[in-house]
Amino acid sequence: MLDKVRDLHQEIEHYTINSPEQLEQFRMRFISRKGVITELFEGLKIVPQADRRAVGQELNGLKNFAQERFETFTQQIDEQRTAADSAPPVDLTLPTIPNLTGTQHPLSLVRQRIIQIFERIGFNVADGPEIESDWYNFGALNFPENHPARDMQDTFFVAKVENGAPADMLLRTHTSNVQIRLMERQKPPIRSIMPGRVYRNETISARAHCMFHQVEGIYIDRNVGFKDLKDTLYHFVKEMFEPGTQIRFRPSYFPFTEPSAEIDISCQICGGKGCNICKHSGWVEIAGSGMVDPQVIANCGIDPEEYTGFAFGMGIERITQLKYVVNDLRLYTENDVRFLQQFEGL
Ligand SMILES: [Zn+2]
Repeated sequence: MLDKVRDLHQEIEHYTINSPEQLEQFRMRFISRKGVITELFEGLKIVPQADRRAVGQELNGLKNFAQERFETFTQQIDEQRTAADSAPPVDLTLPTIPNLTGTQHPLSLVRQRIIQIFERIGFNVADGPEIESDWYNFGALNFPENHPARDMQDTFFVAKVENGAPADMLLRTHTSNVQIRLMERQKPPIRSIMPGRVYRNETISARAHCMFHQVEGIYIDRNVGFKDLKDTLYHFVKEMFEPGTQIRFRPSYFPFTEPSAEIDISCQICGGKGCNICKHSGWVEIAGSGMVDPQVIANCGIDPEEYTGFAFGMGIERITQLKYVVNDLRLYTENDVRFLQQFEGL
């Protein structure tokens, strides 16, 4: 019996407590009425009368010791709890940490808007390769070999050797290659737009870039005339730009359309009064267009006697510049967050 008392004494002495759960375990084992000490007191009955007094004293000592330790532990746990409670509380008046949301790139916004406008009047979206053969980028579009017209677009050629001779692969200089591919594989009516990336060998500056985006459109069917071209582009300008925007067609030349016209709109920046963007003319060019040259239609295996059509093309950067007053082309590719954040929520 005395051995047991001593063992328990030692156990209590070495007991450590770090949590309210452990405190409760201690209480159950030593303090509660079902604990080991109560059990020992009950066993006192069978201790011989002569020893009972001495063992009883030892047992009382153990009981008091357990009680003492329990109080110390309780205090310790209370202190821990108070320390946790007095930690700096959450300051509800602090401003929240901003929840950063991504923004759509302005070029994506404008491309989507252009697609939306044309889809509503029956154009679908077509796509094609960015690395293209000379034929699809130039030949089929009436740019004869060594024709000075090819100088209109400085081209990146892709060095690829086939059978010892360099093949004429290049980075497309316009999205017109998609028009050719479309006419080759699809019977009219064809009514599509082709947004995409194009490349020109130009020094990067505020006004020029070696990579930019175009949207071209084509409509080939029986009896498509210049009036249809005008109606379509009037519709586009009305949907895309501010109400009251003026539009004019100016005769021009492209190898793949005849007749050809460039399309100007009244300057979105100055409202036609004259500014740097419109070079003080009040007009800005937004697109090239024209009736598809019968030879181009024939090049794609469609009978130009039966079918006619129009095509147009515009730079997405240009439209974005006018819509959001972006004066430096380089901003589109620098990915400066301060620039991109201005388009949040658009
Ligand atoms: Zn202007």
